[in-house]
Amino acid sequence: MADYDYDLFVIGGGSGGVRAARVAAGEAGARVALAEDDRYGGTCVIRGCVPKKLMVFASEFSGTADVANAYGWNMTSGSFDWSGFRSRLNTELDRLEDVYRSLLKNSGVETFDARATLKDKHTVALSTGETKTAKTILIATGGRPVRPDLPNADLGIVSDDIFHLDTLPKSILIIGGGYIACEFACILHGLGVQVTQYYRGAQILRGFDDEARGLIAEAMRDRGIELHTGTNIVQMGPASDDHSGPVPTASDAAMGASAQQEEIMAYGGVKDDAQGDRTGPVWVKSTNGREQVFDAVLFATGRDPNSTDMGLEEVGIEVGRRGEILVDEYSKTAVDSVYAIGDVTNRVNLTPVAIREGMAFVETAFKDNPTAVDHSLIPSAVFTQPEMGTVGLSEEDAREKEEVEVYCTSFRPMRTAFAGKPDRVLMKLVVSKANRTVLGCHIVAPDAGEMIQLAGVAIKMGATKEDFDRTVAVHPTMSEEIVTMRTPMRTA
Ligand code: NDP
Repeated sequence: MADYDYDLFVIGGGSGGVRAARVAAGEAGARVALAEDDRYGGTCVIRGCVPKKLMVFASEFSGTADVANAYGWNMTSGSFDWSGFRSRLNTELDRLEDVYRSLLKNSGVETFDARATLKDKHTVALSTGETKTAKTILIATGGRPVRPDLPNADLGIVSDDIFHLDTLPKSILIIGGGYIACEFACILHGLGVQVTQYYRGAQILRGFDDEARGLIAEAMRDRGIELHTGTNIVQMGPASDDHSGPVPTASDAAMGASAQQEEIMAYGGVKDDAQGDRTGPVWVKSTNGREQVFDAVLFATGRDPNSTDMGLEEVGIEVGRRGEILVDEYSKTAVDSVYAIGDVTNRVNLTPVAIREGMAFVETAFKDNPTAVDHSLIPSAVFTQPEMGTVGLSEEDAREKEEVEVYCTSFRPMRTAFAGKPDRVLMKLVVSKANRTVLGCHIVAPDAGEMIQLAGVAIKMGATKEDFDRTVAVHPTMSEEIVTMRTPMRTA
């Protein structure tokens, strides 16, 4: 057998790559190395789930005083200090990055702060000039946000940039209707930014249950987000060119034009090492003919796998149309010694899925226990306000497959109803008419992400509607409704 430097070389230090490296070294006793060319922790920890969730928490406080006052408190909401928050956020991310580095070190994984590309089926070339060989190579390089192909698109920011903003813009246009667009629309609105969102389709959050996304869209509009569906950006440019003068600004309704201009000039813009300094404001023309100036434009128009210029095709690895590495159910590429996991494979792009794919890879490649990843019935949450938690099939998808009963209720939750708020909650079960299995559960509510995790266990176990019915309600809670719906709203 050939003598390699390592048993495993992992390319990418995000959630999936780090887990696979640690487990292969720690549990399977493999000699493991890992290369990362950016920060350890990857998208989830450094520029995704973790900082996003902390921003969700920050943004939710803006409504607290209002509700508390209805409960007899005397509170004022105060103002939000972005730079104070950002500095705490950076300290926390530094801490987490250190944790990731230590986990690798303590598991005996050798790390390289370098970009790695494939030289051949068993060799990686590092940007330091070194080459390393390994019996098995795992690619876990994740994905990156993409801008649409539009002149001046680089005037817009992407989700990675949000965490580096020097100051929060007064107004922002968000393009897209997916997870990132909707989550940041709610976050930034909560932090006091005037948010306009354009989505090219008929309803945001395509692919999710229709009633759930309808309720979220309504709640977002009720809270003051200017959400336009069936609308897209067609042109953009710096507002300082000819377009700037007569073009009405997003904040014109709220303040005089000259005051708005001063606000815009005070906005520090975005610093992005890769792109140089970009500053607002940005002039935008949309498909509805409207022309407006925004302090910033955020493109949340999807993510592409990070697979370019890695030498993949040269060694025989097959890559799909969007750059995704094509793998079998064991995460093996077309080359026997090379595996790929996580967003770079564009299967289900969620952190816990990448981690599971990493663990299954170690079972397969290092523990003589071929393990396919189970991508069915994955619970997930969209951290909009209100949140959505979902597992299984939407009503629309379920109806395509079989006859279903739909149990659904929508109500004003006690906590905010008491304060006179219009907020509504939705609880929905989609049930197979033939065998009573719950095919899908959709919750729109504060903390729906927490609720769906537990509903997900039951549904993954194959719970029937009668199993839900047999479970006694926890009273008084919002989630008790999930076990008290007795009559189907409709069959379809
Ligand atoms: P999504 O694929 O979810 O959404 C992309 C959005 O951009 C869609 O609304 C899409 O429209 C729109 N779009 C695409 N191209 C264009 C264009 N040229 N012009 C205008 N609009 C366009 O991607 P995200 O970036 O929001 O998120 C990426 C992935 O990250 C998610 O799919 C998810 O897997 C993961 N994620 C998960 C989170 C969570 O678990 N809470 C949070 C954030 C991200 P259309 O619908 O018409 O295609």
